[in-house]
Amino acid sequence: MTSLPHVITEIPGPESQRLHAQRLDAVPQGFGVALPVFIDHATESALVDVDGNRLIDFASGIAVTSVGAANPRVRDRVAAQLDRFTHTCFMVTEYEGFVRVAEWLNAHVPGDFDKRTALFTTGAEAVENAVKIARSHTGRPGVLVVDEAYHGRSLLTMSMTAKHHPYKTSFGPFADEVVRVPNANPLRGQGAAYALSEIERTIDEHGADAFAALVVEPIQGEGGFVVPAPGFLAGLRRIADAHGIVLVVDEIQSGLGRTGALFASEYEGVAGDLTLTAKALGAGVPISAVTGRADIMNSAHVGGLGGTYAGNPLACEAALAVFDELESPGFLDGVRRMEQVIRERLQPLVDDLGPVADLRGRGAMMAIEFADPESLVPRPDLAQSVTSACHSAGVLTLTCGTHGNVIRLLPPLVIDPAALSAGLEILVEAIRSVTTADAREAAA
Ligand SMILES: *Cc1c(COP(=O)(O)O)cnc(C)c1O
Repeated sequence: MTSLPHVITEIPGPESQRLHAQRLDAVPQGFGVALPVFIDHATESALVDVDGNRLIDFASGIAVTSVGAANPRVRDRVAAQLDRFTHTCFMVTEYEGFVRVAEWLNAHVPGDFDKRTALFTTGAEAVENAVKIARSHTGRPGVLVVDEAYHGRSLLTMSMTAKHHPYKTSFGPFADEVVRVPNANPLRGQGAAYALSEIERTIDEHGADAFAALVVEPIQGEGGFVVPAPGFLAGLRRIADAHGIVLVVDEIQSGLGRTGALFASEYEGVAGDLTLTAKALGAGVPISAVTGRADIMNSAHVGGLGGTYAGNPLACEAALAVFDELESPGFLDGVRRMEQVIRERLQPLVDDLGPVADLRGRGAMMAIEFADPESLVPRPDLAQSVTSACHSAGVLTLTCGTHGNVIRLLPPLVIDPAALSAGLEILVEAIRSVTTADAREAAA
């Protein structure tokens, strides 16, 4: 029973509303919020708010709490570390956890070569440092990024991010030397061959010595869970090799079991020269990593990399607990089974309902796109209405996509099957009723 949604007030409830009003007087409006509900505690499947409502978690704090937001292994390891010490700064004196996290990532990140791992704190910092390392290795300035990419909110990563609003509006001037190239987006008819030839053309235009790095998400996150057309990643690998460009695979959202493999790039048989992880790495205790070829990683000079909190000891212990979960028997099989369950429940909507244009993704990283059936004009209004209906019924879903017309599912990888099923039922119901009302309105 504890895995079913349990809604006893309006959403947000009175206590959440009271706290949200206080928040407005304390926190700038720049921090948006998907659902202004205040959380009291979590289970492996749900978030319980301060009014006692239990919301099925299809967000995982944006793919962070893959092992649950209150994982006992994470708690135990972090608590034990809390008793020893909270911080030394790895650049001042060292501690073992940092080394163990680096060793695990070196062993498990794709790529059959000698590796090194540098730990940081946020995803944006991992992206920034990958670019620093690639520039240091190549002696070149340029960074290639793809359409619909999301890489963060710092100056460089905001510049690398495609979507203007809300990430970039009024925040320029942006970092130089970032060049955007097409993505292989199958729904929009952009095949891998077209995108790859455009990328080759761009490299020719700028000169073969222009680019240090080519940065790509193997499945895009904020950009709309776009799974690139088959062959795209392998083509990028070939282009990077041909031009001496460092291929940086941003697995910050897609990595660490989310797609049913440890890394999404495994599905394409591609290994980045550098692979980035963050989000799920610390189960919410902030930590990120750049893992890659030893010679490239070692090209930055002594003292060139770091950060006060980089690879904080509490976060390292959290990451080691996450690794234990990921390696527990049958864990990734369970994620692939979730994909089957999600597809079985949602594919009929694509077949039956015009504006449900696409169901895509891998593992527990699945999305539904709403668009006009003929023109494919995005329908963010439908995604928004469905999301609101889900929230009211006790299921926390998120939207994404350049046009905000995609609903993404990011349940904890440890979600109780009954909670997954109950949440999907509510989502299906919401999509049917919103699209039916929309069709009636269009006919009227
Ligand atoms: C979230 C995300 C980032 C940025 O991570 P932060 O921890 O928010 O800085 C970068 N790349 C991808 C693919 C992401 O999903």
